[in-house]
Amino acid sequence: MKIPCPHCHKTNQLAIERLASQPICGACKKDLLSAPLEVDEQLFEELTAQSPLPVIADFWASWCGPCKMFAPTFQASALKHTNEALHVKINTEDNQALSQRLSIRSIPTLAAYSKGKELTRVSGALPAPSLEQFVQKAMQDAS
Ligand SMILES: [Zn+2]
Repeated sequence: MKIPCPHCHKTNQLAIERLASQPICGACKKDLLSAPLEVDEQLFEELTAQSPLPVIADFWASWCGPCKMFAPTFQASALKHTNEALHVKINTEDNQALSQRLSIRSIPTLAAYSKGKELTRVSGALPAPSLEQFVQKAMQDAS
């Protein structure tokens, strides 16, 4: 699969199982999973279906103030849980078909996935401690 590096934006080609073995960007050598990945519908589908790590998804839009305020909290969580949980961001304006199919009605919406199943979902920007609980629960439920 093709993973865009969240640090230098270079595309990394890797087998999906490699996500579980602390992948590093071939270009900038940083941890690929230490920041949220910007994903499109195709990559979202691949990751939620097959990722060996639980997937935490942030559905957002550029016009959404609470989404922007939440972004640093989500980024900090991605760094804290590098190689434990995969943090992804879905731009709902660029991926309207996916957002409709998943019935994303308000943003930000956070959802957790493991092995093709949605584990849980919550609407609204979470404060950091609540996000931490959300991620911890997703990791428990996924194991
Ligand atoms: Zn990179």
